[in-house]
Amino acid sequence: MSEGVLTAAYIGASILFILSLSGLSNQETAQRGNWFGIIGMAVAVLATIASESVTNYGILIAVIVVGGGIGLMLAKRVEMTEMPELVAVLHSFVGLAAVLVGISSFLGAETFNTVAEKVIHEVEIFLGVFIGGVTFTGSVIAFGKLRGSISSKPLMLPGKHILNSGIVVASVVLGVMFASAEHDNALTFLVIMTGLSFLLGIHLVMGIGGADMPVVVSMLNSYSGWAAAATGFMLSNDLLIVVGALVGSSGAILSYIMCRAMNRSFVSVILGGFGQTAVKATAGDEGPKETIATTADDVADMLNDATSVIIVPGYGMAVAQAQNTVYEITRFLREKKVNVRFGIHPVAGRLPGHMNVLLAEAKVPYDIVMEMDEINDDMEDTDVVLVIGANDIVNPGANEDPSSPIYGMPVLEVWKGKTTVVLKRGMATGYAGVDNPLFYKENTRMLFGDAHDSMTAVLSHLKK
Ligand code: NDP
Repeated sequence: MSEGVLTAAYIGASILFILSLSGLSNQETAQRGNWFGIIGMAVAVLATIASESVTNYGILIAVIVVGGGIGLMLAKRVEMTEMPELVAVLHSFVGLAAVLVGISSFLGAETFNTVAEKVIHEVEIFLGVFIGGVTFTGSVIAFGKLRGSISSKPLMLPGKHILNSGIVVASVVLGVMFASAEHDNALTFLVIMTGLSFLLGIHLVMGIGGADMPVVVSMLNSYSGWAAAATGFMLSNDLLIVVGALVGSSGAILSYIMCRAMNRSFVSVILGGFGQTAVKATAGDEGPKETIATTADDVADMLNDATSVIIVPGYGMAVAQAQNTVYEITRFLREKKVNVRFGIHPVAGRLPGHMNVLLAEAKVPYDIVMEMDEINDDMEDTDVVLVIGANDIVNPGANEDPSSPIYGMPVLEVWKGKTTVVLKRGMATGYAGVDNPLFYKENTRMLFGDAHDSMTAVLSHLKK
C-alpha cells in the first residue's frame, strides 16, 4: 500500500474514532458509536498490515491468531460483573506495550541526522516507558482491587507523598542522565527508571481506596491513552498518536466528571488519598441497631398501592442479574399508570455507566432513566423507593457524618421517600466498607435475599 493510501486510511480511521466517541456519549447513539469504533479499528489494523513497514507476515499472522483467540475466548467467558476487571487488565496491556516498545525502540539501531532529533527520540522513549510503567502496574493493582483480591482500603504508608514525589524527582534525574550517557549506560538508567515507574504505579493505586476507585479506573484509562500516544511518537505512527490523545483526553475528562460527581478534588484523588481517614467498618459505638425486615409479598402490596416509585439500582443488581425482572415489574406497574422511574448515581456499580448498560440491555426506555441530579428532589413525593443492591450510593452518612470516609460525596437521598425498601442479601457493607445508617431508619424496610430471587417473588405476587 502506498504512503498516500495509508495516510488516507489513517485519516478515515481517526474520523471514525471521533464519531465513535461522540456516539458513545449518549445512550441512544451508543450502539452506533460502538460500530464506528469497530470499523475504525478494522480500517486501522488492515491499513497497518498492508503498509510497507510490515514485511514479516508469518510472525504477524501467528500473533494475531494467538492474541485474537485468547481475546475472543476471554470476552465470551467474562461476566458483566467482571467487566471492570477486564477493562483494568486491558489498560495494563497498553502500559506494558508502551514499556516494551520503548525499550525495543531504544535497543534498535536507529540513526539520526541531528543531535536534536536524537534527543527528541530519547525523550519520547523515556516518557513513554515512564507513563507505560505507571499504567501497567497501576492497572494490575486496580484489577486486584476491583476483583477483591486486594483490599479496597487505601494503603497509608508514612511519608507516602514524599515517596511519590521522590520517585518522580529520581525519574527526572535519571532522564537527564539517560539523555547524556553512552548507549550501554543509558540502558541502565532506562531500566532503573522502569523499575521506579512500576513502583510508583503500585503505590499510587494502593493509596487510593474505597469510593475513590471510579476515578482510578477512568484515570488509568487516560494514562493508557497517553501511553499509546507516546508509543505512536516512538514508532512515528500518526494514527496511534491521534487515538492515544483521544483516549487520554477523554479519560481525563471522564476523571474530572467522576470527581465532580463525588465532590472530590482530582489532585487529591490522583495523589492517593490526601486527607483520607481510615475506613471504619461500622457506623459507630451506639450499640446494636435494629433493622425492619419485610417480605416479597408486602413489597408487592406496597407497589400495588403506590402512585409513584423510584428504583435505585446498584452493584448488587449487576451481581444478581436482576435487571430483566426489574423491568418486568416496571412494565407491570406502568400499565397500571404508576409513575416508575430509575435514579442512577454516577458511580453506581463498578464501571462508569454500569447501570445504564444493564438497563439498556433489559430494554428499559431511556426517558425513565434519570441522573441523580434530575431525580433527587422528587424523592420526597415518592411512595416507594426500591434500592436494589445499592449501598454506598444511598448512604446518608455521606451527607450527615463528617467522620465518614465518603462524607461529601453526593448520594441519592432515598431515605426521603415515604417508604424505602432495600434489597440485599445480608448486612454486608458496600465497596467503600462503611456501614449504612439508611438500613436502620424508621421508614426503611429490608428485603433480604438475592435481588433476582426477591424481584421474581415480588413479580409473581403482583401478577396474582
Ligand atoms: P456497593 O458496592 O456500595 O453495594 C453493593 C451492595 O449490593 C452490597 O452492599 C451487597 O450487600 C449487595 N449485593 C451484592 N450482591 C447482591 C445480590 N446478589 N443481591 C442483592 N444484593 C446484593 O454498590 P453501589 O452501586 O451502591 O456503589 C458503588 C461503589 O463502588 C461505590 O463505592 C463506588 O465508588 C465503587 N466503585 C465504582 C466504580 C464505578 O466506576 N462505578 C469503580 C470502582 C468502584 P450484600 O452482600 O449484603 O448482599
